[in-house]
Amino acid sequence: QVLNAALYARRQSAVARGVGQAHEIFIKNARNAEFWDVEGRRFIDFAGGIAVLNTGHLHPQVIEAVKAQLDLYTHTCFQVIAYEPYVEVCERLNAMAPGNFAKKSLLLTTGAEAVENAIKIARAHTKRPGVIAFTGGYHGRTNFTLGLTGKVAPYKLGFGPFPGEVFHALFPNELHGVSVADALHSVELIFKNDIEAERVAAFIVEPVQGEGGFYVAPPDFISGLKAMADKYGILLIADEVQTGAGRTGTWFACEQWPVAPDLITTAKSLAGGFPLSGVVGRADVIDAPAAGGLGGTYAGSPVACAAALAVMKAFEEEKLLQRSQDMGAFLVEKLKAIATKVPAIGDVRGMGAMVAIELFEGGDVHRPDAVLTKKVVTEAARRGLILLSCGTYGNVIRILVPLTAPDALLEEGLAILADSFAAVA
Ligand code: PMP
Repeated sequence: QVLNAALYARRQSAVARGVGQAHEIFIKNARNAEFWDVEGRRFIDFAGGIAVLNTGHLHPQVIEAVKAQLDLYTHTCFQVIAYEPYVEVCERLNAMAPGNFAKKSLLLTTGAEAVENAIKIARAHTKRPGVIAFTGGYHGRTNFTLGLTGKVAPYKLGFGPFPGEVFHALFPNELHGVSVADALHSVELIFKNDIEAERVAAFIVEPVQGEGGFYVAPPDFISGLKAMADKYGILLIADEVQTGAGRTGTWFACEQWPVAPDLITTAKSLAGGFPLSGVVGRADVIDAPAAGGLGGTYAGSPVACAAALAVMKAFEEEKLLQRSQDMGAFLVEKLKAIATKVPAIGDVRGMGAMVAIELFEGGDVHRPDAVLTKKVVTEAARRGLILLSCGTYGNVIRILVPLTAPDALLEEGLAILADSFAAVA
């Protein structure tokens, strides 16, 4: 029998140290919201491959669609020979994105690539260089997206210099003392101190900060940002790589915003475990780059497009947007019940099924408890529940369980979480 420890030792000598690993576990097989490791142990998966498995591991329709695609063709490069599934994914994204204007899309492979392309498009359209991102934001690991990312350790350590003309304003975070007014004022300060508004191409913001700690952007912050954007001719980009594809109760989280963004990035759960990302938005903006200016060899792979169309169909047939809302309410209620017994849980929050708890020493919001967070995540894994932490202070436990998980499995996972707190807190 292969052991996790033996594989971990091989991994340590063969794989670059910079590639982290949250759990010292190697998978053998998976189904929906459960998987089994190489030693035959069963785990409940509340991590979903970091927000990629909204439709679960091996959704039967997704696998069927991929298998059918494998018998036809797997690659042409869309810029050489086109294929209908790519066009259809774009049509469907255009139809789902909010905003009373004509829309177009392009497809890529990773979330970072979608963000890179959104910035290229915004610069081409506005003919301006500047980009304003937000503290605690996460946008990827490529050089430009690292520049946008508002969290140094571990992402940016040792990797500079980063591109110029990128500035960080404050993300509103009432829990940690940053009001919406503070956040909007910090944008004005950038216009005074760093770059004139007339040279800024775009704001890029996550509707719910993912890696940053599951902090929800308040609606009045978005309205304020949009008012400034309109005043100065700046574009608003919603980075929905983590929030998109139904996680927050609507297909795009920004459908719940008071105003529509000009561009949206999407990836992760879009293709149910296959690599696919995209940028969707205002047709006049997306069409700014000249023909040949956008694309990529693997961008919009036909296999991933087939998977994405099956994911969208599963959302309709299984009413997964409603499920996302119901599951979110269910998780929040259960987590609040756990919090009444665990003083360290200082906040329970979320948007749809994008839900998290935040841990503090003795519940004091001035003392984030990263140590306890790590202990709980480790203890839960020992007991068969896979969780992920996140947050600027490393003190947030996030839940990204497949929307297809049955209630009984959620209950089982939450009971393990409660037991883990009882064991280590
Ligand atoms: N933007 C956001 C909001 C993300 O959460 C992530 C991934 N965690 C990315 C961009 C980067 O996506 P990828 O890892 O697919 O490049």
